[in-house]
Amino acid sequence: MPDSENPVAADFIRTLIRKDNETNRFGGRVHTRFPPEPNGYLHIGHAKSIVLNFGIAEEFDGLCNLRFDDTNPSKEDTEYIESIIEDVHWLGYDWGNRLFHASDYFDQLYEYAVQLIKLGKAYVDDLSAEELRQQRGTLTEPGIESPYRNRSVSENLDLFQKMRSGEFPDGSRTLRAKIDMKSPNLNMRDPVMYRIKKESHPHTGDKWCIYPMYDYTHCVSDSIELITHSICTLEFEDHRPLYDWFLDQLNLYHPQQIEFARLNLSYTIMSKRKLLQLVKERYVSGWDDPRMPTISGLRRRGVTPESIRTFCDRIGVAKNDSTVDIALLEFCIREDLNKRAVRVMGVLNPLKVTLTNYPENQVEYMECINNPEDESMGTRLVPFCRELYIDYDDFREIPPSKFYRLSPGREVRLRYGYFIRCQEIVKDEKGNIIELRCTYDPETRGGFAPDGRKVQATIHWVSAQHALNAEVRLYDRLFNIPNPLGENENTQFTDFINPNSLTILQNCKVEPSLQSAKPTERFQFERVGYFCIDSRDSRPDCLVFNRTVTLKDIWAKIEASLNQKKS
Ligand code: ATP
Ligand code: MG
Repeated sequence: MPDSENPVAADFIRTLIRKDNETNRFGGRVHTRFPPEPNGYLHIGHAKSIVLNFGIAEEFDGLCNLRFDDTNPSKEDTEYIESIIEDVHWLGYDWGNRLFHASDYFDQLYEYAVQLIKLGKAYVDDLSAEELRQQRGTLTEPGIESPYRNRSVSENLDLFQKMRSGEFPDGSRTLRAKIDMKSPNLNMRDPVMYRIKKESHPHTGDKWCIYPMYDYTHCVSDSIELITHSICTLEFEDHRPLYDWFLDQLNLYHPQQIEFARLNLSYTIMSKRKLLQLVKERYVSGWDDPRMPTISGLRRRGVTPESIRTFCDRIGVAKNDSTVDIALLEFCIREDLNKRAVRVMGVLNPLKVTLTNYPENQVEYMECINNPEDESMGTRLVPFCRELYIDYDDFREIPPSKFYRLSPGREVRLRYGYFIRCQEIVKDEKGNIIELRCTYDPETRGGFAPDGRKVQATIHWVSAQHALNAEVRLYDRLFNIPNPLGENENTQFTDFINPNSLTILQNCKVEPSLQSAKPTERFQFERVGYFCIDSRDSRPDCLVFNRTVTLKDIWAKIEASLNQKKS
């Protein structure tokens, strides 16, 4: 669902589909699929593929299936299946009654394999995995034909049947396609179609002890589902001849495979295997840790599905690999939250302020605008009292130049409140500032002085007596270099984990309107950033907020200043 402000650019895939529709190649049908392997949680790279496949289906009045590519029982898990279903729905897409599993087709795949054997196009090989590797050849040297390559059809049928009925141990035999050991394309050198794996499958239980390989399974599954355009990432380009070969030999309905460049993001890794390592080795709290690039992590962090979709539309699809700057994702998140998040006041590092000339038991309710971008979001009343909290960072005893916020003798504006002037600093015996004693000007309610005098800063606050306690978790990038994978052979991506990727502040104070806020709700803390209520850990007596994103691109600023210093 591309929104009207950001129409999807016509990319090469859409151009190709339009051409197929013009020539009536698939009878004008457009039917795509998203085929995750349930061996981990979905990440932002998968979102690119989801938005592309489901987006194209919507745009062309077509359909998109969700298909679990569940051919490897040892790595797959129902936890992953459930999370994938939740994540695709959350991103805003639906597959109707078209949720499939490659394992739904195991019977059919077996029948087709028998057919290939009968056609003399597949054979049972007794070589071990290691021997297969050795005989496969290289890019410059042809492969070697297996001594079992020319078995008779009947012997192959018999052996394949025995493989299926569990007569041979794991790894002792394979079924291979009989293509060409001299092919310049290694994928065409008699690829393995089936292997023996005596393992229970999350979906088919103990029915099978042989499992079909991805390349064979994928094209047949696409064909069975009458997919028109089978969109996949670039590394499958060299597999396309094999995709075509199976379907041609079996004389099956033939979808078009189309490859596009996968998403790479700076400061991010996306391989599920590596993400699993981060979880297992406890670098993060789980797959949905808000620092993870997983859909569930982004969701927990407060990112909206709309901003992910906008991001995917903006990066577009291309035929060559590139890395997208994570700042673009952050920009899309900020832009979207700016439109929808209610503004509130929250103080991360509270410093008590007493307004010495404010009546002891008085409470005033200040009308605050919920979102200046959207009047329809209305206003709310926030209590104002004699004792307030402001942020430590908004005060300096000795202000450096260009620091315009509160300091001794200086006057600033309290947002939606009054002008206040700092008269006195209270310190504890160690010399830490524990309180400021200020005066307020009763004439300045609403933030303007009748005599026209100006102040140079507006700061936020909460009423001490009304404030709610909160824990705030500040997240930063999980890696401290743009490409944690590609440094050199002697480094591991875990060497580049940012030790400051999580800062927990436990004594924060937020305005009382947040009492009714629900888990996952998102807010802008004025002047501070965007936050959401943590879906797991937040409690009524202590709200827990995750920082989704800062207000401005602090990193870009820091980096720019570092670069300036260097040059
Ligand atoms: P990973 O390498 O992260 O483990 P994968 O490709 O093995 O990913 P699958 O579950 O097989 O993961 O992927 C499902 C679909 O998502 C495939 O069509 C795949 O091409 C696509 N996909 C995976 N990663 C990306 C990415 N970074 N960018 C775009 N599409 C992706
Ligand atoms: Mg895969």
